[in-house]
Formats: sequence, structure tokens, C-alpha cells
Amino acid sequence: MPQITTNWSGVITNPERKQSYIRSVREIDKNIGSFLSFNPDLPGSDTTVKGALGGMPIAVKDNIAVTGHPLTCGSRILENLVAPYTATAVQRLEDAGAVVVGKTNLDEFGMGSSNENSALGTTVNPWNNDRVPGGSSGGSAAAVAAGLVPLALGSDTGGSVRQPANFCGVYGLKPTYGSVSRFGLTAYASSLEVIGTLTRDIDLMETAFGIMSGIDENDQSSVSYEDSVVPGSDISSVVMLSVGNDMLDDPVARAYMETGEALRAAGYSVTEISLPSLDLVVPAYYTIATAEASANLARFNGIRYGYAPDFAENPADLMKKARHEGFGREVKLRILLGTYVLRSGFQDQYYGRAQKIRTLIRKELESVFSSADLLLMPVFPTQAFLKGDSEMDDFKQRLADVFTCLANLSGLPALSLPIGVENGLPTGVQFMAPSFGEQRLFKVARNLKDTFPLQTPPNYLDIGSLV
Ligand code: GLN
Repeated sequence: MPQITTNWSGVITNPERKQSYIRSVREIDKNIGSFLSFNPDLPGSDTTVKGALGGMPIAVKDNIAVTGHPLTCGSRILENLVAPYTATAVQRLEDAGAVVVGKTNLDEFGMGSSNENSALGTTVNPWNNDRVPGGSSGGSAAAVAAGLVPLALGSDTGGSVRQPANFCGVYGLKPTYGSVSRFGLTAYASSLEVIGTLTRDIDLMETAFGIMSGIDENDQSSVSYEDSVVPGSDISSVVMLSVGNDMLDDPVARAYMETGEALRAAGYSVTEISLPSLDLVVPAYYTIATAEASANLARFNGIRYGYAPDFAENPADLMKKARHEGFGREVKLRILLGTYVLRSGFQDQYYGRAQKIRTLIRKELESVFSSADLLLMPVFPTQAFLKGDSEMDDFKQRLADVFTCLANLSGLPALSLPIGVENGLPTGVQFMAPSFGEQRLFKVARNLKDTFPLQTPPNYLDIGSLV
């Protein structure tokens, strides 16, 4: 594990530096809105500065539980919920000395690509405040990009760590399915999702992943990482997904080509492939994700916790009103779609077919990785788009998930990394590796680091320089 130098420790332990840190974050975040709640003084915050992450402030997406902090999921239905326990991934980081300073904004329950589906706040892109930060982990991406925290957690069900990381110019890791415990992550689509990290520092990303990963008795789908890990040394071959000219905006296409060239210059063999089942990715993803969402979100009924209406005739009426008033439009749409694809007599036609497509995609990717170490792909067809952009309507946003959803349908790890800045907005690419091949992702990111150095947005908070 790489050694991390902890020059931020004083921002939590030294009272004066802490006050100056809190003031700076509040000031910058007034414009960006990355935090739904910012409270570095909650119990547990006074941890020791020992451990690999000693005293490091971290931010956590507000669909991941941290004792004593709110757990809203960006939804009115959970607006007043405070988490009674801590997610395993967060607990492991806290045990290593990290301090959760706040919870970040997201599209309601993780459903969206812009943060515009949050019922509780508006987050903008630190590079350009007229633009979205991406989603659904847009608050985490914006907080890291603006320098408010060196590390943030997100969840990636269909790209929600990698796409906002891409829009905000930071690294975003979606680990192998099962390598990080989902205990404490509010479920959206359980078979697709995993907790991931966003940061500006690839060494920190590797360290944090090392700490978070591994089997957890509270998550049956978690696996022992050490037994399965694929080493990162000796990587030499990359295949690039061939992407139609009309699929990517120009700056995105340029960054993609430049990455291929930089890899060749660094001695990698780079070839192109096409994936025959690429067109099926989005339909399969939205069939499976909405089916699972309709089941997972059935628990929010206003009875034991969460939003409840002032008046109801009877329990059925209470549930109906709680869900009608508590869920936003996109969430309702997806629950309806999920129940539609699962309705009796039609499972084979929709859900069953989507599962077959999923198997097909896994096989295609297996064959890719039988002859190459890494797969290079775009993250999203556009750079960060304008808030309320009518061009990027809901339908277009869903189609645009094609490159990110591949990793979720297959369970494979993927890392999105910044390449440059065009028109004042970040560009980037993503690499995918075989299962448990995270080390390969860290390795290639390090190889490209000097060619494509990270840049900072306006009003960047340099935590190390705080006095
Ligand atoms: N855009 C994807 C969706 O709306 C992102 C989901 C995610 O990863 N949480 O489903």
C-alpha cells in the first residue's frame, strides 16, 4: 500500500486550523452546494490522528449510513432520518483515522446523472456554476474537486461514481462487485451496485480501497479480496472500444484519442475492438435496475420511519400518501417501470431477457480480457452539461449511461480519470479491468499521471495551506 502523507490532520485536531477549515468549506460550499449536511463536530469526530488516514476529513454520499449523521438519500421521504449505525466501508475508514465531516448531495436514491433529481438541494459544478456536477454522486465529486475534502465516498449502480468524477475532473473508482461491503448503503439496485471512492490523488485512492475492501459478515455478497486479487504489475496491452464518430462530443472524442496515443507512447500495445452487445447495455440496465428498485424501495412506507402525512384514513391510505408525497417524479417513474417489467406473466419477456443479455455481456468482456490487460472507454458522451439543459433530456441522459453501465452489468472494476480541460470543463476516460484487477487500474493511472496532470477549478481550497 502506498504511504500517504497526512498534512491535513491538523484541520481536525488543531482548534484554530479546524475553525479556519470549517469557515473555508462553508464559504466555498455556499456557491457549490456539495454538502446536504456539514458537521465536523459530531461524536466520533474527535478520533485520533493515528492510522493510515490519521485525521483526514472525508465526505460521504447521503445514501451511505454514518451514525449520528442524516441519511436522506436526497429524498423527502427520508428528510429527517438520522442513521443509527455506520456502513462497514465507512467504519473501516474511521478505524484508519478518517473523520466524516458531512454528507453529500445526490440524485434521489441514486437515480440520475446530474444531481437535478435531488429533492433536498442543488449542487453545481465547481468548474462552472451554470453546469451540473454529474450524478448521482455529484455532491461527493464537487466536494473533492473544490478541495473541500481529499476523499469522498459515492455509490456506483450504473456510473454514479465515475460520471460525476469525470464531470468534475477527479478520479472515480467503481470497485469489483462484492469487493467492498454494501452494508449501510441504501439499496437501489443491489445486484449492480458497489461503494466507490472519489479523490484527486491516485495513491490515496489505492490506500482507501485497500482499507475498505474485504469480506464482511454483514454483507453476504462480499468476498475476500486478498484471495482473488489480480496483480497490477506487467500490464502491457490495452484494447480501446471503437466508438462511432457521432457518439461523442468533440472534446470528449479528442481526450479519448489522446489517451490512446499516450498509452502507445508509454509502450503499451493498443488495439481496437467493438462489443456486439453494446446496444443492449442501456435497455438491460434499466430493466434490471428498475425491477430491483421497485422491490428495494417498497420498504419506505412512512410507518416505522421517514416522512408521514399529517392525516390518513387507515394504514393503506398512510402508505399511499407517504409514498405519493415523499418520492419524487423520477423515483416514482422507476418504481412503476420496475413493477411493469416484473408483473406476472411477463418476467420472461423483460427481466429474464435482460438477465440473458447480462450473461452475454459478461462473456464478451471475458473474451476481451483473455487477450488484453485493460479496456479503455469513454465515460460519458458529453462534458458537464448545463443545468436544466433541454438537449440533455431524461431519455438522452439514460442512453448516455451506455459506457458506465457495462461495468455494473458485468461486475467488473472501472476507474475514471481526468485527462484535461477544454472550454473550462474537465475531460476524461475510463479503464475497465477483469474482476479484482483494481491494481491494474491504479497502475495505468499512475503511468498517465505526468502526461495528463490534474488541474484545479476556480476557488479551489488548498487544505494543506490552511493556517
Ligand atoms: N445514471 C444512472 C441511473 O440513473 C446512475 C445510477 C447510479 O449509478 N446510481 O440509474
